[in-house]
Amino acid sequence: MTAMKTGLIYDDIFLKHDLPGHPEHAGRLKAVMSYLDEHSLAGKCERIIPRQAAEEELYTCHDRALVSLIKSSGDEGLVRIDPDTYMNEFSYEAAVKAAGGMIDLADAVMRGELTNGIVLSRPPGHHATASRSMGFCLFNTIALGARYCILTKKCKKAAIVDIDVHHGNGTQSIFYNDPSVLYISTHQYPHYPGTGRMNETGEGEGAGTTINIPFPAMTGDSGYSKVLEKIIIPALHRYQPEILFVSVGFDGHEKDPLSSIHLSLSGYNTLCRALIKAAEELCHQRIIFNLEGGYVPDVLGPGIGNIVRALIGDPTREDSFPAIMDRESHHTTDELIKRMKEMHNL
Ligand SMILES: [Zn+2]
Repeated sequence: MTAMKTGLIYDDIFLKHDLPGHPEHAGRLKAVMSYLDEHSLAGKCERIIPRQAAEEELYTCHDRALVSLIKSSGDEGLVRIDPDTYMNEFSYEAAVKAAGGMIDLADAVMRGELTNGIVLSRPPGHHATASRSMGFCLFNTIALGARYCILTKKCKKAAIVDIDVHHGNGTQSIFYNDPSVLYISTHQYPHYPGTGRMNETGEGEGAGTTINIPFPAMTGDSGYSKVLEKIIIPALHRYQPEILFVSVGFDGHEKDPLSSIHLSLSGYNTLCRALIKAAEELCHQRIIFNLEGGYVPDVLGPGIGNIVRALIGDPTREDSFPAIMDRESHHTTDELIKRMKEMHNL
């Protein structure tokens, strides 16, 4: 096997979008970058300084009206786009550099210059729809990456797996009618933002290329691994994407105050390594992770560290948190898998 080349997108501008006291604050990403430096992981990646995405690139997923609203908001200092979502004078630049970095990384991975990669940016993206910034998100970074690959004919089919604990309503809606991007989401349900029911499966030409896996609270590591094995991996093999994108949020961790799904870092590691293995089998190892949520900095550091280790081919992982009790209701997960298999003919 040839040496892995892992791209890492990061810029200090991502720390300047900040509101102390808000769950989505700059300390999250600071903790990630300190962890990667302390464990000599950042140095093993190809660091890419992101450029600003052009407005024309943003229009591939977002309405012109939204782009001009976000571009002009925040100039005067702190503003709220909605009760959850803030902007300051640095937020637009941060969001468009996240997008530009994602697009350039996707391009380098499709051309084979890099094996795989990770975007470590803020604000997150998966709640942003074509016409609305919401849920701490301004522009939909991962959707812009996937759509770039399709529109520039780098590939015919891409898949996005979203393992943030919230449903990626923005990503889903952007590709709801589009058969060229398979969207698979696991999320706690019912929970913010309220979408992601099992029967939301795509529309028109995109019918069947949206797969929602709504988990009850307490699903935990064992419930997730069963669904991974029985639904997610078979759905990816059936679809045969040419590149795999992963929206990863560590807000499903047991310590995270924003959910009660009770994943451990070892559980996340299992999920992420299985997705990397699927990319090896299906699409020449092409996989790109994008940081979405996760609100405990001490969890985000080793969580992202484990993904970087997996991307560079290091078999070790860190899970310094004590083992958590597995409270999965096996009956509930088995019933969910049975219904999902019927619904999606898996
Ligand atoms: Zn989330």
